[in-house]
Amino acid sequence: MRMELPGPVKEAMDRLEKAGFAAYAVGGCVRDWALGIKPHDYDVCTAATPDEMKRVFAGERLIETGVRHGTLTVLLGGEPIEITAFRVDGDYQDGRHPDSVRFTRRVEDDLSRRDFTVNAMAYSPAHGLVDPFGGQADCKKGLIRCVGDPAERFAEDSLRILRALRFSARLCFPIEENTAAALHAGKAGLRRISRERIASELNGLLLGKEPGRLIAEYQDVLSAALAGQEETGDPRVLLDGKQWILAARRVDACPRDLAVRWAALLLEVHTPCTASSILTGLKQPTVLIEQSAVIVQSFGLCGRVELPEALMRLGPEKLEKLLQLEEADQMARRPDQAENIRRVFAERQKELQALLDRDACYSIRQLAVNGRDLLALGYQGKQVGQMLEKLLLQVVRGQASNDRDALLSIARAARSERE
Ligand code: ATP
Ligand code: MG
Repeated sequence: MRMELPGPVKEAMDRLEKAGFAAYAVGGCVRDWALGIKPHDYDVCTAATPDEMKRVFAGERLIETGVRHGTLTVLLGGEPIEITAFRVDGDYQDGRHPDSVRFTRRVEDDLSRRDFTVNAMAYSPAHGLVDPFGGQADCKKGLIRCVGDPAERFAEDSLRILRALRFSARLCFPIEENTAAALHAGKAGLRRISRERIASELNGLLLGKEPGRLIAEYQDVLSAALAGQEETGDPRVLLDGKQWILAARRVDACPRDLAVRWAALLLEVHTPCTASSILTGLKQPTVLIEQSAVIVQSFGLCGRVELPEALMRLGPEKLEKLLQLEEADQMARRPDQAENIRRVFAERQKELQALLDRDACYSIRQLAVNGRDLLALGYQGKQVGQMLEKLLLQVVRGQASNDRDALLSIARAARSERE
C-alpha cells in the first residue's frame, strides 16, 4: 500500500533522503491513513540532526520553534512542514518533561518513545511502513494500547493518561486491558500536569464521538483531572456514581458543542465546585466559561417561563444551547421516551427560530421607545432603565404590543400613578 503525501511533504522527505538522511511521515498522519481517514496534517521525522537539517534546507525559510527538542519548520511552496530529528527521551523526573533528549539515527528508537501503538508508525515511499509495535494490527482491531509498559509510560508523562481517553473517544476504539488498568492506577500523576494541557485533552475527549462510555468508565481519572493542582490527598468528590453515569449519558445526548458538553458534564457537580469554578480552574477561554456557566445556572428555565421570556433573559445563542442541554438531560433520564423528547424540543427550537425570523422583541434595544422618550415624560436617572425593563417584560409576555404610542401611554400612566 502506498500512502499519498502532499507535494511539499514529499519534497522535504526527498531532499533529506538525497542528502543521505532517512525521512518518514510519522504519527497521526500514518495512523489516519491506516484507518482510511484523511490526515489533517503531516509530521516528518528524520535521521538528520537539526544542524544537518539546516544544511539540507539552506536557502529556504526556516522557523526554529522547537530546535532544542529537534524540531524545525521549513517553508516549502508556502507550506510549513514540521520536521523532527529522530530522538529518544531522557529520564522524566517530573512526570511531565523529559530532562533531556538524545538524537538517534534509528527510526525504531524514535517510534519507541511514542505513546500508543497506533501513533507509533512511520512511512516513507523509499522504506515503506515501519511498524515495530503492531500499530497497523491495532488500527484493524481498533485498540488503544501503550507502546511498552503502560505503567512506566504513564509515570514518565501523565498527560498520556488523558491522551488515551481522547484518542479512544475520537476513534471509538476501546482501551486495551493493561493500558486501562494503568490509567486508573496512574491518575494521581495528573496533579503535575498544567491545567492548560489538561483542558486541551479534555476538550478533545468531550468532542469525541461517544465520550460517554469513557466518562462512565473513568470517573476516577476525570475527577483527578478536574481537581485543582494544589489539591493534596484524594481529589474532591465532584459527583456520586449515579450522577457520573447520568452525566455520561447526558454528554452523549448533546450535539458536538463544547460549551453544551461541558455544561452536560458539570451540571450536577457538588458545591463548593461549580461549572464556572472548574472551567476557570482549567483556564478555559472566558466565552466558554460564561456560556457553560450560564446555561447550567439557567437549567430548567424553559419549564418555568415562556420561550420569549427565556429569550429575553439569555439571548438567542445561549437559549439555543440551554434547549440542547435540557433536551440532553431528559434523554439521559428517560431514554425510553427519546422520540417524544426529541419531538418536543425540535418544536421548541423551531419556535425559537420563528421568534428570531419575525424579529420578535427580546431586548431593550428593540423596544419602540427609548430612554430619551422616557426622559421627555419626566423619568429620571435609574427610573429610566427600570421602566424600559418593565415595558420590555410586558411586550415579551404579550401584555403590551411593541408600539410606540402604546408603550408611551403605559409609561405615562405608570408615572402619574406614582405621583
Ligand atoms: P492529532 O490528529 O490529534 O494531531 P496526533 O497523533 O498527530 O493526533 P499529536 O498530539 O499531534 O497527535 O502528536 C503527534 C505524535 O507525537 C503522536 O502521534 C505521538 O506519536 C507523539 N506524541 C505526542 N504527544 C506524546 C506524548 N505525550 N507522549 C508520547 N508520544 C507523544
Ligand atoms: Mg498532530
